[in-house]
Amino acid sequence: MLRLHSFIRPAFRSRRWVHNTPTFSHLNSVNEEDLAHFSSILAPTSILSTLPSISTPADDIAPYNVDWMGKYHGQANSVLRPRTTQQVSEIVKYCAQRKIGIVPQGGNTGLVGGGISLQKEIVLSLGAMNNVRSFDPVSGILVADAGCILQSLSEYIAPHNHIMPLDLGAKGSCQIGGNISTNAGGLRLLRYGSLHGTVLGLEVVLPDGTILDQLTTLRKDNTGYDLKQLFIGGEGTLGIVTGVSILTPPAPQATNNIFLALPRFDNVLPLFQTVKRQLGEIMSAFEYIDRTAYDMGLQHGLGPLLSADEVGDSQCFVLVETSGGNQDHDLEKLNNLLENLMTADEPLINTGVLSQSPTQFNSIWALREGLTECVQKEGKPYKYDVSVPLADFQKVVDAVRERMISKGLYGDHAISKVMGYGHVGDGNLHLNVIAKHGYRPELEAALEPFIYEIVADRKGSVSAEHGIGSMKRDALHYSKSDVSIDCMKKIKQVFDPLNIMNPGKVLP
Ligand SMILES: Cc1cc2nc3c(=O)[nH]c(=O)nc-3n(C[C@H](O)[C@H](O)[C@H](O)COP(=O)(O)OP(=O)(O)OC[C@H]3O[C@@H](n4cnc5c(N)ncnc54)[C@H](O)[C@@H]3O)c2cc1C
Repeated sequence: MLRLHSFIRPAFRSRRWVHNTPTFSHLNSVNEEDLAHFSSILAPTSILSTLPSISTPADDIAPYNVDWMGKYHGQANSVLRPRTTQQVSEIVKYCAQRKIGIVPQGGNTGLVGGGISLQKEIVLSLGAMNNVRSFDPVSGILVADAGCILQSLSEYIAPHNHIMPLDLGAKGSCQIGGNISTNAGGLRLLRYGSLHGTVLGLEVVLPDGTILDQLTTLRKDNTGYDLKQLFIGGEGTLGIVTGVSILTPPAPQATNNIFLALPRFDNVLPLFQTVKRQLGEIMSAFEYIDRTAYDMGLQHGLGPLLSADEVGDSQCFVLVETSGGNQDHDLEKLNNLLENLMTADEPLINTGVLSQSPTQFNSIWALREGLTECVQKEGKPYKYDVSVPLADFQKVVDAVRERMISKGLYGDHAISKVMGYGHVGDGNLHLNVIAKHGYRPELEAALEPFIYEIVADRKGSVSAEHGIGSMKRDALHYSKSDVSIDCMKKIKQVFDPLNIMNPGKVLP
C-alpha cells in the first residue's frame, strides 16, 4: 500500500506556493508607428498584425497565440518573421528603445507556455530563418539557422551518414533554436548526452540588439566563461538564438529494438541493471510505459505489439534500443539477453518482442513516440516532466491518482486518466494527468503544488526537459535554492536590464 504521507511535507507546501500573474507596466504595446518602423526592416509578407494598417486575418495570427496543447493563449497583436540575423538585431534594437516586450518563438511545440505572449509582447518567429550554413562530413559539425526544423536537419545530414544528436516526438515541427533554448532532451540523450555537450557554438542577438557571434566549430575552446551555456535552456529570456553549431554523430550501422512486458513496476530497476550489463556499449535507449499509457495507445491505434494473452496483467512495459556497428554482433547480444530474461528462475519480464525489420523497428518506436499525441486526443493534459529517482517513478504516478480520487476529482467528470511514461534511462518521468472535459482551476489547484512537493521531497527536478516557461515559474524554488535563483536574476539583469526579452518566463 502506498503511503502518501511519506511524500508530503505540509509546512513546506503552504508556506511557499504563490502563483503570481506578472504585470508588465514597464512595457509598451505595438502601435502603428512601430509597424511602420518594422516595415523599413522587413518585407511586407514578414509582418503580421491585427492593427488596421496591416489587418492580418485573425485566423492567420491565431496559431502564434496558442500553444500545442491549447492550454496557453497569448494576446500578441503582431508577429514578425525575420529572414536574417541582421534583421533580428535591428528589430530587437528598436524594441529595446521603445520598451516593447519580445517573445521568441520556434516551432511552438513547447509544453510550458514559454513561447506564448503573456500580455501584448510582440512574437518574433524564427521560422523563416531556415538555411543550413555549412556541414563538414568529416567532423560532423553542422552550422544552421536557428529556425531549421529538427527533422529537416536530420534529412539533410542523412545522406552523409550522420544523425542529429537529439530526437523527439515533435521533430517534424520543433526548430533547432527552440531545442537549444529549451535544452531539449528526448530519445537519444542516453547515448549522445545533452545539448550542453553537443552544441559547439551559438550566434545570439542580445536584448539590446548586439549580435554575439560565438558560432565556433571548435571541439575544444577553454577561453574564459562559456557564455553559450547560458542560452542553452535560457528559454529566450536572455537573447534570441539565430545560429547554431552542433556536433552530429555518425549514423549507427546497426539499430535494433525490443519491447518487453513486465509483471510489475518493481522489476524495472533490476531490468535496467541487467540490460545495461548485458548490452553494454550498444544500448542507446531505455524507455518506460505504464499500463494505463499502453492501453491508451492501443485504443488510439498504436500497436498492438503483443497479443492480449501475451500482455496478460503486465503492469508496465519497457522499450530498449541498441545502436551499434555490427548487426550480427548486436543481434547475438539481444537474443542472448532475451533468452536469459525468459529462462531466469524468477523472470523479470512476462514476454517480449524483438523487431525483425525496419517496419517493425519503426512500429515499436511509434508506440512510444505516439503517446504524447494520444494524450492530446483524450482530453486536456496537465503535463509534468519531472526527474525523480527511478525507484519512485510509479509511486509518484500512483500518489497523484490517489490524490485526485481522495478529492472526488477522478473519473470522466474530471481527471479521467493519470499515467506515466518516459526516459527511464535518464531518470525522466512524463507524468500526464488528463482532464477529459478541459482545464479547470480546481483541478490545477489539486495538482499543484502537490506534484512539485512530491518531487522536491524526492530531491528531484520539477522540469527534466520541457523547461520552466510560465507554467512552472512560481515552482522554480522547488528545485533551485534562493541563492541559485538570486544568481539567475542577476544574470538576467546583466543581459536584459529592461526586461523586454520573454518577460514573465522562467524567473519568479
Ligand atoms: C509531441 C511532442 C513530443 C515532445 N517530446 C519532447 C521530448 O522528448 N523531449 C523534450 O525535451 N521536449 C519534448 N517536447 C517539447 C518541445 O518539443 C521541446 O521543448 C522543443 O525543444 C521546443 O522547440 P520549439 O522550436 O517548438 O520551441 P517553442 O515551443 O517555439 O519555444 C520554446 C521556448 O524556447 C524559446 N525559443 C524558441 N526559439 C528560440 C530562439 N531561436 N531563441 C531564443 N529562444 C527561443 C521560446 O521563447 C520558448 O520559451 C515535445 C513536444 C511535443 C508536442
